[in-house]
Amino acid sequence: MIVKNNKEIIYIDMDGVLVDFTSALKKIEKSVKDKFTDRLDEIPGLFSLMTPMPGAVNAFNQLAAIYDVYILSTAPWENASAWSDKLAWVKNYLGEKAYKRLILSHHKNLCHGKYLIDDRTKNGAEKFSGKLLLFGSDEFPNWKSILEHLL
Ligand SMILES: [Mg+2]
Repeated sequence: MIVKNNKEIIYIDMDGVLVDFTSALKKIEKSVKDKFTDRLDEIPGLFSLMTPMPGAVNAFNQLAAIYDVYILSTAPWENASAWSDKLAWVKNYLGEKAYKRLILSHHKNLCHGKYLIDDRTKNGAEKFSGKLLLFGSDEFPNWKSILEHLL
């Protein structure tokens, strides 16, 4: 078991887990979306427009009180603003509890800990050495089910 300050480490993904990715698309003009067809995640500034998933901020705060919590997300390689937008989002919505706890990586398997909460198996999530809690699956359809499992 990997422990730090006697707390187990949990990593939480952003898009589709903490962050409602689709919430930003409603705020983007059609002409822009047409230009970025098939690569909507490359729209500059897109990630600054996203709102939290239902219950996500509350869940983060509850987990942060018990676990050693980090945000482990991937930013699109071809969208430079996404990297800074994600930092701004974490500061804005998660605040002090997330201070210097944002990790942006295409290789999530290189981070070691007890749990990874992610809605996909890409970018190394499938090879994560701890337990992957697949957000949106039948077992963990929402934050309520995640918290029931972890608290
Ligand atoms: Mg995701």
